[in-house]
Amino acid sequence: MPRTPIVAGNWKMNLDRAKARELTGAVAARRSEAARVELVLCPPAVYVETVGTTLQAAKTDVALGAQNMFDKPSGAFTGEVAPPMLVDFGCRFVILGHSERRTLFGENDAIVNAKTKAALAAGLTPIVCVGETLEEREAGRTDAVVTAQIKGSLAGLSAADIEKIVVAYEPVWAIGTGKVATPLQAQEVHALIRGLLAALTSAETAAKVRIQYGGSVKPDNAADLAAQPDIDGALVGGASLKADDFLGIAKAFGG
Ligand code: PEP
Repeated sequence: MPRTPIVAGNWKMNLDRAKARELTGAVAARRSEAARVELVLCPPAVYVETVGTTLQAAKTDVALGAQNMFDKPSGAFTGEVAPPMLVDFGCRFVILGHSERRTLFGENDAIVNAKTKAALAAGLTPIVCVGETLEEREAGRTDAVVTAQIKGSLAGLSAADIEKIVVAYEPVWAIGTGKVATPLQAQEVHALIRGLLAALTSAETAAKVRIQYGGSVKPDNAADLAAQPDIDGALVGGASLKADDFLGIAKAFGG
């Protein structure tokens, strides 16, 4: 069974409510341009409801996702958002362990692991992010870093759970920098990740898991990435803020 490509927009801390509504409407209206691709929009938490109701009104299958969550279902955790709350507002996906969460907010593999388990328990599909820094790549440590992140972030998950997740390989040096990994650089790490998933589960299960590439993906570099055998979609930051660019990328993965 071929894997359905998945392209997700990580809006980060951008837009306002009106612009969030407008962008959602534009993506939904042009959804058929990337008919064979699963599309996900991940707005800031406060706009999840706006984007969700806009998607519902458009009667589209474009999915809703969040950018982060806490690992407990409720309680005294000021400022946090619980997995069931995201489900309540129609989220189906949640980005976990994004490099900005890891570097700016101190999230390590143990935290990402707890959040991944909590997301699955709530019925959300986690998009688990991994990737090396420039320093790590230049020191020849890419494989070791990504291996440790995958093993740590997915520790204790059953094969059935691993089959449900999406992995995003996002080299930190490529995020928001305009420096995209070459298709070969990305493919090498995607193949490594699929091998690690096979070791954790089975080759059959690993073959079902979708692995997105993220890091300065644009409409003009998406096709070469999409042509790689283990690249099953993209996690898109900056270019997801414009419907033309987001759909241009999605189209490259299956128009
Ligand atoms: C991201 O933040 O996940 C990302 C890939 O950003 P950008 O596309 O802007 O590099």
